[in-house]
Amino acid sequence: MKDRVNKWILADHAHCWHPFTDQESWESDIPVVICRGEGSWLFDFEGKRYLDANSSIWTNIHGHSHPVIVEAIQDQASKLCHSSYLGLANDKASELAAKLCSFFPDSLERCFFSDDGSTALEVAFKMSLQWRQQNEQKERTGIIAFENAYHGDTLGASSVGGVSRFIKGYGETGLNVYRVGSLEDLKRLPEVVVETASAVVIEPLIQGVNQMRLWPKGMLADLRAWTTQHGIHLILDEVMTGFGRTGKMFACQNEEVLPDFLCLAKGLTGGTMPLAATLTRCEIYEGFKGPDRTFFYGHSYTGNALGCAVALANLSLFESENTLAGIEEKGAYLERELKKIPWIQEVRRVGLILGFDVGECGKEFCLKLRKRGVLTRPILNTIVIMPPLSVTMDELKFLIKAIQLQR
Ligand SMILES: *Cc1c(COP(=O)(O)O)cnc(C)c1O
Repeated sequence: MKDRVNKWILADHAHCWHPFTDQESWESDIPVVICRGEGSWLFDFEGKRYLDANSSIWTNIHGHSHPVIVEAIQDQASKLCHSSYLGLANDKASELAAKLCSFFPDSLERCFFSDDGSTALEVAFKMSLQWRQQNEQKERTGIIAFENAYHGDTLGASSVGGVSRFIKGYGETGLNVYRVGSLEDLKRLPEVVVETASAVVIEPLIQGVNQMRLWPKGMLADLRAWTTQHGIHLILDEVMTGFGRTGKMFACQNEEVLPDFLCLAKGLTGGTMPLAATLTRCEIYEGFKGPDRTFFYGHSYTGNALGCAVALANLSLFESENTLAGIEEKGAYLERELKKIPWIQEVRRVGLILGFDVGECGKEFCLKLRKRGVLTRPILNTIVIMPPLSVTMDELKFLIKAIQLQR
């Protein structure tokens, strides 16, 4: 073991602090140090390869270091990496905003950039709430969210989330949130809550962090009808489901739903750079025009040109590689093969997002899987399988074999 400890591991153990990590157990283990990626594979410093079975926490789309993406980064870096979006426009941000809005003609016409999923959600919350304050609906100050939902870790976003182990300690610090378990619960909310709600936020079709639990079919369309009827904004958190994961470009397209706010991040740059976007309607945008109505929000790197250039390359690959065409087939293959494994308790799937339950500690299961050359992270006893959309059938066979060999 000693000879595998090198300067990176020493530096990590001495100075790094990892997200969502019990550092005590982390320090007693030898971490995998990733130095390279190619297609669906990641390579450690010794050259050992691992299948990236959760797309590097749900971000990667077309594989690692795809030549078209790499070229876009190099080309853009040689021209402009970043200039402030405050008081200035840039060509790539303009092109990307137009491209994203083109998926929702005549409905989502405005794009506000930020940096990651959490900020994409905070933008939507703040826009919805501020819009009410300055458009004669001052009483609408509440956000309705679902139990066990996950919307990010910044203070505002985590106050809306409903995963108790993540919000312990600061869940009560933040927005005015009502949590409901289901659409039926929502419809039973007291009148006063409904009349003072600004928005409902939901992860459409599937709750990711809640162990990949699917909503009933048709629920999203029902929710849209209910929110419209009660004058409440619908915020869709498509940070995980966006960019092809469910088989359609966006999950809301599966039920032909148009939200008031659409939050995008993770897959936006194909899993290469932090960039996020919140799309909204013309009516919301118009409500911010005029004196004392400015949306005071932004970050140093808002509208980052490098990120926007990569996002454009990511979207162009969906067309040139016909990415959406193979997703259902790949997902169905995984579901079928996993269901044949007797000790797997339940398989849940939409598109190329899968979760299956094992009767043992998920962390231990994933450590064993790692030894067989497959990387993923569990959520409690649920194993997440969400490979890059570009994954090949041969790579999926390798993945299934590695899982079969676990017992
Ligand atoms: C990952 C995720 C977020 C948070 O995104 P970050 O980029 O980690 O801030 C929010 N919502 C959902 C559904 C996610 O999967």
